Order: sequence, then C-alpha cells, then structure tokens
Amino acid sequence: MLKIQENLKKIHEKILTIRKKYYIPQKKIKLLVVSKSRSIQEIQTAILCKQYEFGESYIQESLFKIKTFKNIKWHFIGHIQSNKTRIISTNFDWCHTVKNEKIAKKLNKHRYNIAPKLNILIQIDIRDNFSMSKINVNNFKNLIKKIILLKNLNLRGVMGMPYKFIHYNDQVKSYQNVPLYFSIMKDIHPDVDTISIGTSHDMQAAIISGSTLIRIGSYIFD
Ligand SMILES: *Cc1c(COP(=O)(O)O)cnc(C)c1O
Repeated sequence: MLKIQENLKKIHEKILTIRKKYYIPQKKIKLLVVSKSRSIQEIQTAILCKQYEFGESYIQESLFKIKTFKNIKWHFIGHIQSNKTRIISTNFDWCHTVKNEKIAKKLNKHRYNIAPKLNILIQIDIRDNFSMSKINVNNFKNLIKKIILLKNLNLRGVMGMPYKFIHYNDQVKSYQNVPLYFSIMKDIHPDVDTISIGTSHDMQAAIISGSTLIRIGSYIFD
C-alpha cells in the first residue's frame, strides 16, 4: 500500500514536470484515479492520500465501492449499456462515455429529482477516423444541441479513448483532433471546461494535447 502512496506522489510530480517543460497553460489538470478491478483497501489508501475522484467501468463492482466511501466523486468511464442507465444516473456524479442522444435522454430521465445534475462528457470517436469528416462533425454538433436541452444533465466537455500506441508520435497523432472537437463544443456551449484524455501509458501526449483530466489506473496500482 506504500507503493500506491509513492506512485501518486510520482504522478503529481510528473504532471508538474510536463507542464513546466511544455508551458501548459490550462489552469488545472485533474487526476482521476481509475479504480476498476481494485480492492476496497486500495481505494482506501488512495483516499488517505487525498484522492477524492475515482473512475469505474463496471457497474457490478462499483456499487459496493460507492456505498462504502462517502464524499467521493464517482465517474463512470465504461461502456454504457442502455439497461444500465438508471443505475449509472442515480449512483454516479459524472458519465464520460455518452455517444448518442438515446443514452443521454435515458440518463436525463433517471436523474429526475436528484441534485446536482449529472455531469456529462461526449465520447468522441478518435479510434477510426483521424480526419474529421463533415458527417462526424455535424453529428457531433447535433448531439451537443440535443444534450444541452436535457435539464438534468450538465454538459462539461469531451472524452477520448484511442488505441494503445507504443510510440509517442502515434499517441500525439491519436489526440490531434480532440482540441478541435472541444472548441466546436465550446462555441455552442461556452460553459464546457473538461477534456478527459490520457491514461497511464500516454499521459504526456494527452497533456500536451490539452487534457484537463487524466484517467490513471495501472501507474498507480500495479
Ligand atoms: C482502464 C481505463 C483507464 C485507465 O487505464 P490505465 O492504463 O490503467 O491507466 C482509463 N480510461 C478508461 C476508459 C479505462 O477503461
């Protein structure tokens, strides 16, 4: 468990080093601790190290963790199954992986009467198209316009999950369109503030591409 403490310290130092080296202007880069498949004890250790935001991908294992720890912000970062929207909407504070209007509407419906609103990120498709096609951009704009009409959701930004590239240049390339998508979103809805990109293996590429929230699991726990 000492290892978790050391790794968290290292990661905060690493963020600082990257920011200094590349003159990264963002006010804040949030560290989301990805605790999927990690034990209650491991999460407890991270909380003792003052980490208060955690990311989970699997509903089944996340509910017990959410019940166990109070005053934590829980982010759902997994694939959303349509029949799990109620559980996500009533248990989590954030949902990073909204890809279509149908899912957004369901999350909105189930968040009824629960304050605050559910924070939402639109997951952009950066896996298959490195170039931004007109169709993709139009679909993206339409989805934004639909989501901001949903009263129980708070659209906060974009999320991206590329393939795992080994080489740094490929990692940077995989994120190249993310700032463009974010600025399109910001033109429509100026309140947005979050770019959720970056995992243990491509932190630096994500940060220089404008990340405001990195999602880190294995670097902390393995
Ligand atoms: C597991 C996961 C992460 C964390 O990846 P690590 O390589 O363990 O840092 C980040 N984002 C998503 C969507 C994940 O599923």
